[in-house]
Amino acid sequence: MSEMPQLGRRRFLQLVGTVPLLSVMQTTEASTTSIYGIRLWPAPDHTRVVLDLDQQVQYKLSTQKNPGKVVLKLKSAQPILTLDAVVSEDPRLRSVKTWFTKNEREFVVEFLLKKGVEARSFLLPPNESYGHRLVLDLHNIEKGEQPAVQPAPSQKRNLVIAIDAGHGGEDPGAVGHKRTKEKDIVLNVARRLEKLIRRERGLQAVMIRKGDYYVSLGGRVRKARKHNADLFISVHADGFRKKSARGASVFVLSNKRASSEMARWMAKQENRADRIGGVDQAREESSFAYALRDMERSANQKVGLELAGVVLKELGKIGDLHGKQVHKGSFAVLKAPDFPSMLVETGFITNPREERKLRTAAHQQKLADAMMKAVRQFAIRYPAEVQPSQQKVTSTQAVSKKVYYRVKRGDTLSAIARSRKMSLSALRKLNPGLQNMLKIGQKLRVQ
Ligand SMILES: [Zn+2]
Repeated sequence: MSEMPQLGRRRFLQLVGTVPLLSVMQTTEASTTSIYGIRLWPAPDHTRVVLDLDQQVQYKLSTQKNPGKVVLKLKSAQPILTLDAVVSEDPRLRSVKTWFTKNEREFVVEFLLKKGVEARSFLLPPNESYGHRLVLDLHNIEKGEQPAVQPAPSQKRNLVIAIDAGHGGEDPGAVGHKRTKEKDIVLNVARRLEKLIRRERGLQAVMIRKGDYYVSLGGRVRKARKHNADLFISVHADGFRKKSARGASVFVLSNKRASSEMARWMAKQENRADRIGGVDQAREESSFAYALRDMERSANQKVGLELAGVVLKELGKIGDLHGKQVHKGSFAVLKAPDFPSMLVETGFITNPREERKLRTAAHQQKLADAMMKAVRQFAIRYPAEVQPSQQKVTSTQAVSKKVYYRVKRGDTLSAIARSRKMSLSALRKLNPGLQNMLKIGQKLRVQ
């Protein structure tokens, strides 16, 4: 993310300036809100609809089951372009219709649905790229919590690498002088890394974001966990007020204060993305209660730091570095204790020279190659755990015998799982209701 108020304002004016009915906007009373744009961001689990407004608006959201409809009623608002759109490509939306209520006090935007959704809405204040917005999220209705994706019992488990392309959809991330958006560059790099991982035996890639849509910071971690990620790599590109700022950097989580002024500032910028998550945020905070699992995390942090060092060294061979050390910062996406993680800032998109480089396929490939080095090292040093079903136990043992392990000082859940040659999720499954913190002397079922 970057601080670019001037650029943002310019873009905002351009948008308004291209709308033909600008004069209407100026002559109407100040309290009328103009709607000057509509954007759709379809994602696998939800569609985000964004209405661009020239100021805040009072509105009501209502849903109707048969036929499936979601209705927004905006108080004293008017569109300055047509919003009635056929949106047949969207997996959830059939069409959008608009009209004024009889007394013209309310403007109605009706969304006809293809299937049942859970609708949420909220207002967003202006940011670097957009003005005031009314956001409507249409989430798939979840049929209970999906079970974690488990490999078939007979298979040897692959190491799962979660690749997290930062930002997306309504959140462009940092924007360069040529209007290069961080969200696009990092998705390209992530896809290249995915390809490299796919080619390797014993490795499996999970793309946290597959297209141009937004995933909340907590949602990114949840997806990685759902796929039993062994390693989490978040890909970003920096932005800064000064054009001269340059160089790539790699971050790991810091429990304490960030290691530098810059690291603090960057963490703030990257974490800020979740303001775009709007209503999701309250949920994220509670889900970060797990961030207290300190013991487990510290073991993974060590691995993360080691791998981050590998990436940094490789990045140093293909471009400038922003500091010679791995940075520590308090990034929300790095807070999962279950797996080692790192955040790679691939360069400054606000530095014209680096922006040019970041746009090229050749450099994007080199960045992916640099991260792949660390992935390979990880695979060699921390080979995939074998599923419990592959352990040499007789069938009667497996059925009848419960085996317990007593927690010792310095133990972590992942270390225990590794020593028992079982996956972390299998260990959790055997111990339902496992508390966040392990206690010395605590009994854990391991078979
Ligand atoms: Zn970023």
